[in-house]
Amino acid sequence: MNEIYPTTQSQKALTVFQLYEGSGEWFDLSKKPIERFTFTFGNAEKEKDGYFITDGCTLCCACGEVCPQGCIDFTSASAVIRQENCLHCGSCMEVCPQKAVIRR
Ligand code: SF4
Ligand code: SF4
Repeated sequence: MNEIYPTTQSQKALTVFQLYEGSGEWFDLSKKPIERFTFTFGNAEKEKDGYFITDGCTLCCACGEVCPQGCIDFTSASAVIRQENCLHCGSCMEVCPQKAVIRR
């Protein structure tokens, strides 16, 4: 840092800090569907947030027609959102006639 901020005056711009705990997400928007991953460090707990489909799902597939990522799987008893590809746009929740999509 002495090379980048060589004078006492310029070193006043520096702030030293340490990140000891936290969480975040990174996205790869260059892929279709997009990819998203969460990470934590320190003692931060991984939060399970996003959109999820409950047992009220009747497999009508209305959500699949509006999902911009095509990331809803209809091969199980209830539809399942592939979290690693979900944009969190909420379109599926808006159209579900059963109110089976929830946001955490
Ligand atoms: S719109 Fe609702 S009921 Fe229909 S498949 Fe999607 S989650 Fe299930
Ligand atoms: S929140 Fe958006 S991207 Fe995610 S499953 Fe629903 S419609 Fe698809």
